[in-house]
Amino acid sequence: MTRPRTVTLAIANQKGGVAKTTSVASIGAALAELGHSVLLVDLDPQACLTFSLGIDPEDLDLSVHHVLTKGLDPTEVIVETPDGVDLMPATIELARAEADLLTRTGREHVIKSAIEALEESDVAYDWVLLDCPPSLGVLTVAALTAADGVLIPLQCETLSHRGVGQLLDTVHDVRRFTNRKLEVWGVLPTLYDGRTNHARTVLETISDTYDLEVVGPPIPKTIKFAEAPAAGRSILSTSRSNKGAVAYREVAANLVKRAERPRPSKAGAQKKS
Ligand code: ADP
Ligand code: MG
Repeated sequence: MTRPRTVTLAIANQKGGVAKTTSVASIGAALAELGHSVLLVDLDPQACLTFSLGIDPEDLDLSVHHVLTKGLDPTEVIVETPDGVDLMPATIELARAEADLLTRTGREHVIKSAIEALEESDVAYDWVLLDCPPSLGVLTVAALTAADGVLIPLQCETLSHRGVGQLLDTVHDVRRFTNRKLEVWGVLPTLYDGRTNHARTVLETISDTYDLEVVGPPIPKTIKFAEAPAAGRSILSTSRSNKGAVAYREVAANLVKRAERPRPSKAGAQKKS
């Protein structure tokens, strides 16, 4: 029997503080609850995802930068976490990797080849979620090059339209030069305060302006999210029935459905771009 292939999803937005890392940890835990095997990849030198899953980067000998710049086998770096997901952790050394990669041939493909190495080994995952750093630099471009889809978390209150336009320009370039199959899965409204008309209006404007699908439900703003990383677990295990946890479970179920959607034919993909 052939295994269905890995779905690789980049969670990207060059703006910091829009809940990229929180979404990666929570969606990852929710997919694991649904019985999927999940690998999370921390691509931010600040290592917030690594910390939030209870791992201190200072304790690590090996991390994602060894895979990306030294060609180390990804299985030597991956760690298991109490949330039921595996993690390719980051350390501050990843900041130097970004600079090292700048002058390297094939830099856009370093994440893609690491995932392909896993797919060819016995440890292929159902899902790989890429937690992108808050920039449109080498690591984000490499993540988009490796991805089947990109999900864009947006904080609807303080949203900057220009930021979304820049990200979509980068997606367009990646499609042209390094990854034709990349699809924008849509925006995920985060830190959402549905009581204000403002949040709803901003969301509608964005999805209309850029013709983007909204992947819902919106994730409500709740204090529990601030507490989860300190516990080294995602909100799904620290606060199971919290409305944020419930929303992330629904988002994960919607992503599973989205992954099953047939890919556009070549001609269709061309017409779109
Ligand atoms: P990013 O990775 O985009 O920089 P984070 O996931 O680190 O963003 O989130 C930024 C901050 O917002 C963190 O302190 C996090 O705990 C908090 N946060 C994320 N989602 C929520 C939410 N739904 N409600 C309240 N706080 C949240
Ligand atoms: Mg982050």
